[in-house]
Parts: sequence; structure tokens; C-alpha cells
Amino acid sequence: MKIQGLQKMTLLDFPGRVACTVFLGGCDFRCPFCHNGELLDGSAPAVMDDQELLRFLKGRQGLLDGVAITGGEPLLRKDLPELLRAIRELGFAVKVDTNGNHPDALEGLLREGLVDYIAMDIKNSPERYAETAGLKQLDLRPVQESVTLLLEGRTDYEFRTTVVAELHDEDSFRKIGPWIRGARRYFLQKFTDRETVPFEGFHSPSEEDLLRWKNMMAPYVAEVGIR
Ligand code: SF4
Repeated sequence: MKIQGLQKMTLLDFPGRVACTVFLGGCDFRCPFCHNGELLDGSAPAVMDDQELLRFLKGRQGLLDGVAITGGEPLLRKDLPELLRAIRELGFAVKVDTNGNHPDALEGLLREGLVDYIAMDIKNSPERYAETAGLKQLDLRPVQESVTLLLEGRTDYEFRTTVVAELHDEDSFRKIGPWIRGARRYFLQKFTDRETVPFEGFHSPSEEDLLRWKNMMAPYVAEVGIR
């Protein structure tokens, strides 16, 4: 498997773990605020393959205890289960980030017990979902199916929304709350601009808005936070 990026150590990407982060290029969404815009069309050069990654991990046994797999959209990779099996055989816990649009692949990982933590994006309210994902239209049923799978609680998980002043408002959280009712964890992630964001003109909401929206989510989720 071609791997488009490796951050050798992170204390932030995998809750409670000292992890490395693996970036897999290619995504079926085109969120205009994406932090990894250069990875979306899958043309970014590989920095290593799966065998090199596994060799790196062998050398980090005892130093790292987790591997966070992000993208792009990792669940687009058909050979992801094979990679996760090999990573777990080396004794590492696995976290996978997903846009939620691939419930069959998600179900496969859950059924085989290949993931310790899933972080799934909830882009926005249903009405603004396609716009926020950078698409003309989007069938939301797969995303809804992924929400249902995670709410079953077969693995630890969080839902999260990258919050952008130009895309989110009170109505977003009025709709997202009931949608993920009963979830374990939900985070509002403040948008921060970077060179790799494909479009200009996006901003983080004010601290007041973030706090208000966090409070709107609190009745629906066991733990809610702002990052
Ligand atoms: S789903 Fe994630 S990786 Fe894909 S475009 Fe959106 S933010 Fe970027």
C-alpha cells in the first residue's frame, strides 16, 4: 500500500496514546476547508509503502503504543484491513479517521475488531452537508448508517465537526445534536487556516459562538469539548 505521509510522533491525534500518524491520500469529499488539500486527488507522491511502515513500527515498539490512520479517506483503501491486521500484530492500538461515507468498510473493521478508536466527521446539518463536503449533492444515507454503527458502541469513538464561521451557525448544531443523540463524545474543532487549505476566506468562529454551540450539544452527548 502506498502511504502519502508519516508523522513519527503525536500526543494529540490518538486520545490517551503516544502515537504516530499515517496519511493515506485520496478522498471522495472535497471539503473546501480541508487541512490536507494536497492529499485529496490521490496524486500526492508516496513517502513509503506498507512494508516500510511496518519496519518503522517494529523499531518503535515500546516507544509508541498507537497508530492513527488519517487521510484523505482511509476507508477508500481496499487493503486497509490487511494493513491494520499487521499493525495490530505488532502490538499497536489503531485509530482510524473517516468521513463516514463508507459504512460497509467501517462495518468490516468493526466486525473483525481491527480498530480501537474511530473518529468520524459530522460535517454539518443535513441541509448544508453537501455544501460543507464540497459536493453538488450527496446521498446522506451512508453517513447516517455510519453514525448508527458507531452509536452501537462496538469500539470507542468520537464524532467531530470542523467548525468554520462561513459554514456553521446555530441551526447546524440544532440539527447535529438530535442526529447523534446518545453519542459518547463530540468535539467542535476550530478551523485554523494553513497553506494546504484549498480555498481562502474561511475563518474560525468566535469563542462566544463556539461556547454557545458546545452548550447546545451538551444535552445530546455524554462528553462534549472544543479543540
Ligand atoms: S473528508 Fe476529510 S480529508 Fe476528505 S476533503 Fe473533507 S476534510 Fe479533507
